[in-house]
Amino acid sequence: MRPQAGRVRGLDRGSTLAIAVSKGRILSEFRILLDRIGIKPAEDPETSRSLVIPLKDRGLRLVIVRAADVPTYVDYGAADFGVAGKDVLLEYRGEGFYEPLDLDIARCKLVVAGKAEPLPRAGRLRVATKYVQTTRRHFAQKGDQVEVIHLYGSMELAPLVGLADCIVDLMDTGNTLKANGLVVLETIAEVSARLIINKAAMKVKNASVKALIAELAEAVDQTATDRKPER
Ligand code: AMP
Repeated sequence: MRPQAGRVRGLDRGSTLAIAVSKGRILSEFRILLDRIGIKPAEDPETSRSLVIPLKDRGLRLVIVRAADVPTYVDYGAADFGVAGKDVLLEYRGEGFYEPLDLDIARCKLVVAGKAEPLPRAGRLRVATKYVQTTRRHFAQKGDQVEVIHLYGSMELAPLVGLADCIVDLMDTGNTLKANGLVVLETIAEVSARLIINKAAMKVKNASVKALIAELAEAVDQTATDRKPER
């Protein structure tokens, strides 16, 4: 049975919870989970220019931020909750939040990709990525010395123009890699969006925070159950 709207205790008594989330795939899939537990935004976040969007009847609000900024907002307590890709969390160094729930949305993989031919053996491998920390950690764990080149976009271009030997980037369907003549050489991590929660909010707003986590966990389970016949 679906949880009823208004079940998050405390929220109706004036306490508010802010949820930091980025527009795009994460927000659109997160909204489906919110919808399942009877939570709807007061206005459409995808078209609205407001960066703080109340959620109807629940004392909750969405705070719209860039994907890479979600952990920072939650770490510093500017938002109680956040919805962030595991790729972003692996890059982040702060420790001010818990990661209680895999929301099982925005699934993809963080991969090493390069041209189909073997990687050069002599000299240090050059790896282009926006995931500098994760890339360093990954190759260091394997005992490989690499030069990490920090890029902000269009990673796939780097091996094509000789800037790097390979890249570390997100892959969903694999179409972008394929279109640029690149293949997956290694998978670093399975990625999905996670719910994160500020440690202080967990203490201070414990009842309402835990209730919302429980409701979202139920919505994630229901979504997985509904999906099963398709598999
Ligand atoms: P695809 O061609 O489907 O493999 O998608 C690859 C492109 O989409 C890359 O530029 C990725 O950076 C981006 N991408 C794929 N999945 C995600 C995701 N879950 N979140 C953000 N970007 C993604």
